[in-house]
Amino acid sequence: MNSFESILATITPTSGPTREILDPATGDVVGSAPIHTVDDLDRAVAAAASAQPAWAALGHAARSETLLRAADAIDAAAEGLAELLSREQGKPLNGPNARFEVGGASAWLRTAAGTPLDAQTVVDDGTTHAVMSYRPIGVVGAIGPWNWPMMITIWQIAPALRMGNSVVVKPSEYTPLSVLALVAVINEVLPAGLVTVVSGDREVGARLSSHPDIGKVMFTGSTATGKAIIRSSADTVKRLTLELGGNDAGIVLPDADPTAIAEGLFWGAFINTGQTCAALKRLYVHDDIYDEVCTALTAVAETMPMGVGIDEQNVLGPLQNQAQFDIVAGLVEAAKASGARVLLGGNPVADQPGYFYPTTLIADIDNDNPLVAEEQFGPALPIIRYSTVDEAIAMANSVEVGLGGSVWSSDVAKAREVAARLETGTVWINAHGAVHPMIPFGGSKQSGYGLEFGVEGLKALGVPQVING
Ligand code: NAD
Repeated sequence: MNSFESILATITPTSGPTREILDPATGDVVGSAPIHTVDDLDRAVAAAASAQPAWAALGHAARSETLLRAADAIDAAAEGLAELLSREQGKPLNGPNARFEVGGASAWLRTAAGTPLDAQTVVDDGTTHAVMSYRPIGVVGAIGPWNWPMMITIWQIAPALRMGNSVVVKPSEYTPLSVLALVAVINEVLPAGLVTVVSGDREVGARLSSHPDIGKVMFTGSTATGKAIIRSSADTVKRLTLELGGNDAGIVLPDADPTAIAEGLFWGAFINTGQTCAALKRLYVHDDIYDEVCTALTAVAETMPMGVGIDEQNVLGPLQNQAQFDIVAGLVEAAKASGARVLLGGNPVADQPGYFYPTTLIADIDNDNPLVAEEQFGPALPIIRYSTVDEAIAMANSVEVGLGGSVWSSDVAKAREVAARLETGTVWINAHGAVHPMIPFGGSKQSGYGLEFGVEGLKALGVPQVING
């Protein structure tokens, strides 16, 4: 089951209602997804609940060995998975896109499998002996977005499985095939019922987040949906990890070298054509080097080809759906109407197939402009001028979300001082958005709570238990 065609055949429903999934770059049919219901969800939860005890009883070593074989299965199917992902999500095969995402899924699974989490003796003083360890939660629900559907599904399910849980996955309505395919591949290795994908709508997501037999929800998506999940999970006191929206700021200090940082700034903002939670979405540049940074960034952006994802030369793709296209187009139009200066793009071609929005850079824009204040989630970067570092930090911190941020400078010590003043879960120095399977990742403020990755990420998928005595 390694080619695009064979993977698609495996996940194409043979009965029940289906709907067609269209390629956002061409409008062509990619395949058919099942329309699962709340009853299907209940059946998946029951299967997960019955598969979980035997999986937990295997112990860490045997589970890890099985998960490493699941990562091997992803690697063996990588090219077919990447093609499906590219056709359904729109992201190119090449660049930090579809192949990169499938490779990341495998790498994160391997790291979750191989990371030890030993019991911790917290007090042992001769009179008291207390040890803390982590028991499985039971059935975990995983609800994901459409921007990095395979990678984020693995971020949710790998630590859950490693810690002895079973999982029911509810993918985005926009990208169900990618998640169905990924799970079909790992299910070649995993016990039956342990991981099930329920390809339903918001109603299915709402049921999952209130289901009495689900102990934890891993959610990645918008802040608005995260708040709905907090409410609907309250009656069953579910544990939650919420990775929500972001509006990350990057601050370029006056001592930065514009040419040296231009490519890093570009990919920080435009990875996955801007449809990334922790992408650079507001760029603050000191007055002294503002024009040089605008010129250097425009020069890099002009060289990056955008087009149909399976054409190897492209590194930028379409927006994934019409709604996202409309959001980006509306924000850029409002910015133009306010008098902001278009350095590049801002002029989508009408009547072409696909949701292509050109790479757009907007200069001389106010901090309260909607393109700055709201999450654009697309290829349109506002560049805001500042004159003091205090002013830049105040503007960076002026939003309700706080996922990531970055500081760009030739003086790393000075950049770290500025970084410590940003109200975000992560701050990168001279980079933006790079994630690592051993480095904890999570939001502050309304970007959510809970950490993913590394040891902290494993702990989040267990219930701490202290044995005192
Ligand atoms: P979304 O919130 O619209 O949808 C996410 C998922 O939630 C979908 O599967 C959807 O069906 C489901 N859902 C919708 N209503 C629900 C409800 N009431 N109960 C339970 N589930 C429900 O998000 P999206 O548009 O798919 O993704 C884009 C957003 O995700 C952006 O804001 C982006 O910043 C954010 N995001 C965050 C991270 C992160 O790590 N913090 C990563 C990727 C994306």
